[in-house]
Amino acid sequence: MPIFKSQQPPINVPWHLPIWTWLFDSEYSPLRKHAATDVKGYTNAATKEHLSYADVKTHSTHLSTALKKNYGLQEGQTVSLFSPNTVWYPVAMFGTLRAGGVVSGASPAYGIDEMTYALQKAESKILFTVPSSMNIAAAAAKNAGIPKERIFLLEGQMDGYKTMAELLLEGIAHGDAGQIPQYKLPPGKKNKDVCGFLSFSSGTTGLPKAVMIAHSNVIAQCLQIDQISPETLRRILAVLPLFHITGLVHQLHLPVLLNANVYMLPSFTMESMYKCVEEYRLEEMLLVPPILIRMVREKELLKKYDLSCLRRFSSGAAPLSAEILELLQQTFPQTATGDANTGFKQGYGMTESCSCITAHPPDKYNYKYAFRVGTIVASTEVKIIDPDTGKECGLNEPGEICARGPQIVMGYLNNEKATRETFDQDGFLHTGDIGKIDEEGLIAIVDRAKELIKVKGEQVAPAELEDLLLGHPDVEDVAALGVPDEYAGERPKAYIVLEKSKRGDPQGTGKKLIKYVQEKKVRHKWIKEIEIVDEIPKSASGKILRRVLRDMAKKGTHGL
Ligand code: AMP
Repeated sequence: MPIFKSQQPPINVPWHLPIWTWLFDSEYSPLRKHAATDVKGYTNAATKEHLSYADVKTHSTHLSTALKKNYGLQEGQTVSLFSPNTVWYPVAMFGTLRAGGVVSGASPAYGIDEMTYALQKAESKILFTVPSSMNIAAAAAKNAGIPKERIFLLEGQMDGYKTMAELLLEGIAHGDAGQIPQYKLPPGKKNKDVCGFLSFSSGTTGLPKAVMIAHSNVIAQCLQIDQISPETLRRILAVLPLFHITGLVHQLHLPVLLNANVYMLPSFTMESMYKCVEEYRLEEMLLVPPILIRMVREKELLKKYDLSCLRRFSSGAAPLSAEILELLQQTFPQTATGDANTGFKQGYGMTESCSCITAHPPDKYNYKYAFRVGTIVASTEVKIIDPDTGKECGLNEPGEICARGPQIVMGYLNNEKATRETFDQDGFLHTGDIGKIDEEGLIAIVDRAKELIKVKGEQVAPAELEDLLLGHPDVEDVAALGVPDEYAGERPKAYIVLEKSKRGDPQGTGKKLIKYVQEKKVRHKWIKEIEIVDEIPKSASGKILRRVLRDMAKKGTHGL
């Protein structure tokens, strides 16, 4: 049975270290490896507010003490972070981890229902947010039973809510001797047994689930990526959202290990991003395809900035089209030598693999390899399975990608059935992505067999839209799937069987339903089109035949 192994030297995961100790109080810490004056940190590119990793260590110590002593946070309890990217996000995150808590990030674009669901599923006890999100945060917290006194502000001020500055003072008030000790692994446990994060993903099927990410998963992924990061990577742009696994690992943890500066943009615009690259002479941009598309399409804007410092683009989270790659190459040609520090790379993986299963190593940062998603990262094995026969595929034969390694997560919280279906007995994660591997060890993603819709790199679970629409009185039955969208990659389409009395007015009812979704869901989940049908194709057991739907969608649209 062919199992494809990584060509990289294996990594050495320190199984005895929880994350906070690993990054701030072990031989891996930049605070041990570098002179105090050389320790880097997180910077708000707009306001220039800067927290060095030494500041983050101090603040997270005081915060952990306040959370535990003043607000009763216990080991294993969840703290949710509901905020755009800010330099105080890592303080709340590392403070929670230092106290032995679990961190759960949520999209700042969520509405009340989505946020309530996230808080309930993650069983959150404390919520950090910002003033602009307070209305939604407060309503969702009430629904989830989090008292107002446990809603805190990461930034800004608002009557009736404690700020981060106040929490830090509460921590300091306990004095040096009164600070709680840093979290220690329970006797007999390794860092792979302890959950540090709950991120949301629908996986291959169903509703979004809380993915249990162990301390060791993040540590392993950082070591895997460190091994294939260029020595020169010292300045990192953080435009991807911090609640998503890519932001969490590559923009919050990895930079501490690398002792790299991180530049955060609290509100993203193409202009602010270019300004940041120009001002800080960034060499690398970690992006998602929709931003790359805007870069190559909005050429006039690009010309206004001096981006000559750029050496590499990195893309992940969704497929990149050949056309965009071609345009990118024309706009940013590779140097004639195509040396290791120029060009393009991708990462491929999912929340359940704590980010990357594959990525391009430095000798493949070249446009000629760019259409593939890189080679298998260190200490990781891949097998490719024919979805129809279940047989293992050989070289260049497409099938479902399955991966095993130290970055593969623990499973789904309180959902053994989904855990068993997604992570097999041999420890392989079944990704639901169809891909193939070639003689050079490069993997190409050719299709997606799972239900998931990816809009601008963000997840949309068809089951979530189907649940919402089925609850509407005008809808008798529904199925949702992704259809191609030039800019977003994909957008949701819904096939709908109308309730009998509404069948005379498909146009009017369809429009009403599109609006209904817009009122209830965050923007990236909005439905692009609706097609009214007589029935939804289903198997004898009542399961939606998604392959039939996909064929219907490919054949042409009769959408409203
Ligand atoms: P998420 O859990 O939100 O990171 O979503 C993971 C899914 O995004 C994967 O299972 C793929 O379907 C897709 N994906 C991630 N990276 C890539 C990539 N480089 N190319 C194509 N699809 C990708």
